[in-house]
Amino acid sequence: MIYDQIVLRYGDLLMKGRNRNQFEKKMQQQIKNALRPYPGVSFWKSYGRLYVKLNGQPHEPIVDRLKDLFGLQSLSPVISAESELESIRAAAMSLMTSLKQPPKTFKVSVKRAWKGFPHQSQEMNHLVGAHILRAFPDLSVDVRNPEVELRVDIQEEATYLFCEMIPAAGGFPFGSNGKAMLLLSGGIDSPVAGWMALRKGLELEAVHFHSYPFTSEQAKEKVIELTKRLSYYSGAPIKLHLVPFTDIQTSLAQQGQDNLIITLMRRAMLRITEGLALKNGALGIVTGESLGQVASQTLPSMNVIGRTTDLPLLKPLIMMDKAEIIAIAEKIGTYATSILPYEDCCTLFLPKSPSTNPNLHIVERIEAGHPNLTEMIETAIANTEQMILSPNKATTVQKAGEDSWF
Ligand code: ATP
Ligand code: MG
Repeated sequence: MIYDQIVLRYGDLLMKGRNRNQFEKKMQQQIKNALRPYPGVSFWKSYGRLYVKLNGQPHEPIVDRLKDLFGLQSLSPVISAESELESIRAAAMSLMTSLKQPPKTFKVSVKRAWKGFPHQSQEMNHLVGAHILRAFPDLSVDVRNPEVELRVDIQEEATYLFCEMIPAAGGFPFGSNGKAMLLLSGGIDSPVAGWMALRKGLELEAVHFHSYPFTSEQAKEKVIELTKRLSYYSGAPIKLHLVPFTDIQTSLAQQGQDNLIITLMRRAMLRITEGLALKNGALGIVTGESLGQVASQTLPSMNVIGRTTDLPLLKPLIMMDKAEIIAIAEKIGTYATSILPYEDCCTLFLPKSPSTNPNLHIVERIEAGHPNLTEMIETAIANTEQMILSPNKATTVQKAGEDSWF
């Protein structure tokens, strides 16, 4: 065990004052949650940075976990030494000796944040570099393109030495930008949209529409699985709303407007989601729509569908190509689940030629002529079931009408 700490870097230079304090608080909470499975480690902070003390635990699994947290820019496992020349040299030696692949070239980059340290940065580069070169006769210095860059960060309380800068997920910490509802279908796109929304610091509640018994239990399992995966990234449990959509879907299918059924269904989904958002204090709706992908995602379709709600519709994938979306789905570990074959409710009633250019007045007229659409929407909201999901367990299943969550 060579490393004794991990340095976590975050922070946007544009963030000032209260915003920054809030960001830091959320960040720390998130790290605390993520480190819960590692009770042996502890963390502490100094301005603009957080440090995890490993206390003898291996760094790899902890680095793997932390690099997926939002709000962090990069992290490095470090050796810490006393801020004094000989201790720094000794630590540099252990670090170079520990490298699995001994490099042919290297350079030392010293940053002297503590101005009380007696040697200037440039001088330190030489003092440490020469010491290493004496011990490794085959090694040479290459300042432009070294195989290994040995970084030495001299702070007053200690000096940190490291060779690796591991990029982290970026974005904002979980929940630092308010709450939105995520329309989660079980397809490839919506989990990716969810991940991108979480990365921007949104807290999410997922909403899934099912048409049981036309849709299977496995389709629901799939969405549960995807929500659990997303909660790994949020580092906090995610509430999943399961909306019974069979009656509404069947009734809309009976309106005799085959090519508008997807438009009508989507509008009903948004109305229900808006109701759930109001009940749960969410201020936006995230979807996995991507411009032009299917009939309901043309600009005229989105115009007619979106007008049914006043909440902002957030569509992180709107300008992305499918290949780019799939690459993210693979990276975040949702792809394999998303491509499982079980149908969601929308594929069931898919008409032969869904409209790519629906007419708002006609759609509104159909809705106004429906005997009890608003009532059915209220019933669906009232009969929605909720589950609270964490990466490895479902903690609660709640039936409609019960109100005690925690
Ligand atoms: P996805 O891969 O996310 O299913 P898609 O390309 O298949 O997207 P659609 O099926 O037309 O596109 O759905 C567009 C968006 O509408 C989805 O990304 C999702 O946000 C929402 N949506 C569709 N079906 C459902 C559903 N059954 N429950 C919840 N949201 C849904
Ligand atoms: Mg879909």
